[in-house]
Amino acid sequence: MKDYDIIVIGAGIAGCSSAYFLKEKGLSVLVLDRAGIATVGGSAAAGAFVSPKIGKGSSLQTLTNEAFEFSKTFYLKNFPKYFVQTGVIRIPKDEQNAELFVDYEKHDYSKRTWISEEALLKLGIYKSQKSFLFSEAGVCDASKMCEALLEGIDYLKYDVKSLNYKNKLWHIGSSSAKKIILATGYENKFFDLRYLGVKGTWGTRGDYETSLDLTVSMHKKISISANIEGIIKVGATHEKEVQTCKRCGSKPLEGLLEVASEMVDTSDFKLKKSFCGMRAGSKDYFPLVGSVINVTEMLKENPKLVCGAKLKANPVYINNLYVCNGLGGRGFVFAPLMAKMLADNIVDGKAIDERVNPDRLFLKWCRKSPDLER
Ligand SMILES: Cc1cc2nc3c(=O)[nH]c(=O)nc-3n(C[C@H](O)[C@H](O)[C@H](O)COP(=O)(O)OP(=O)(O)OC[C@H]3O[C@@H](n4cnc5c(N)ncnc54)[C@H](O)[C@@H]3O)c2cc1C
Repeated sequence: MKDYDIIVIGAGIAGCSSAYFLKEKGLSVLVLDRAGIATVGGSAAAGAFVSPKIGKGSSLQTLTNEAFEFSKTFYLKNFPKYFVQTGVIRIPKDEQNAELFVDYEKHDYSKRTWISEEALLKLGIYKSQKSFLFSEAGVCDASKMCEALLEGIDYLKYDVKSLNYKNKLWHIGSSSAKKIILATGYENKFFDLRYLGVKGTWGTRGDYETSLDLTVSMHKKISISANIEGIIKVGATHEKEVQTCKRCGSKPLEGLLEVASEMVDTSDFKLKKSFCGMRAGSKDYFPLVGSVINVTEMLKENPKLVCGAKLKANPVYINNLYVCNGLGGRGFVFAPLMAKMLADNIVDGKAIDERVNPDRLFLKWCRKSPDLER
């Protein structure tokens, strides 16, 4: 039996980053994962590109680019071995999309340059239109990054089946802790978290051995990494709202390779390893970081919430339970900043940024969810 300050459930990039920042603040941390450190789920499958978001200046774009700045600096400073600043080119998907790029320029992230079709061709990238090059962006080695984040932190391969809160402590198997963080990706079986609206998007990635001299990573409909130590990663998440993770098989990869071969020379690509997994996204695409509302208690105390009544007091939370989830297609961009926010909240009492605080979704869920009787 061992007591910790915090137990983190889930050793993907969300859980590993959370554990890292909590340990930095002096807390004793145990991380549990049923499968291993980033060996299944989104974090195992991720191409782990770390690049900014383009668009017309939405608040999601602003947050993503704040997170990009933070994570890029964090990885370079602390884990330069597992983050390669290859640069990432964003290529328009088609002519219509290319027109939007001109508009995006006004709102966009400043450390970006245009790259012409000729320059793309010289880099070995075919049939493209004028694109954005983000030279500070790059690619993580997903599983090695997660392992490195957990260095010096207790980790156990353990399938959490139940959680019990007794005498102000959470008990899991033979361990206990004052607080728990759920970083379980698209899965949750412990609490009523329907208001978070977490859904999985399924995707796949192939790592190909090749001698192709590709010095830059790129994203069009799919992502293709630069050649790093003889390997080029090709990946995409493309099936939305999948309930449970499906098996990979070879078919989705065949499709990806076909698209890849329209972008670069894949003639000597030899599949070395394939991955598949689910990435968890929230209803509004913003991350979910902070305390968890006690849904049963709240609906019992405030039965009129489902008919549109306003909340008169602060929400009631589940004791000492937190979530770090909903990182969507940019887990490796968001995780460090989100984990730092969570650690600042848990240890120093700093308020969670409203953009990512899960509370934002609760009232709307109460009023609109077809799951609730009105
Ligand atoms: C094909 C693909 C490509 C992607 N490309 C990129 C990219 O280029 N850049 C980027 O930033 N993001 C990318 N993503 C998204 C990114 O992978 C996710 O946002 C990120 O991995 C989510 O991390 P997570 O820690 O929240 O969840 P996960 O990595 O899914 O981790 C959840 C963990 O919880 C564990 N778990 C769940 N329930 C239990 C339990 N009861 N007991 C014990 N353990 C449990 C699981 O075993 C799992 O390891 C991609 C995703 C996919 C699928």
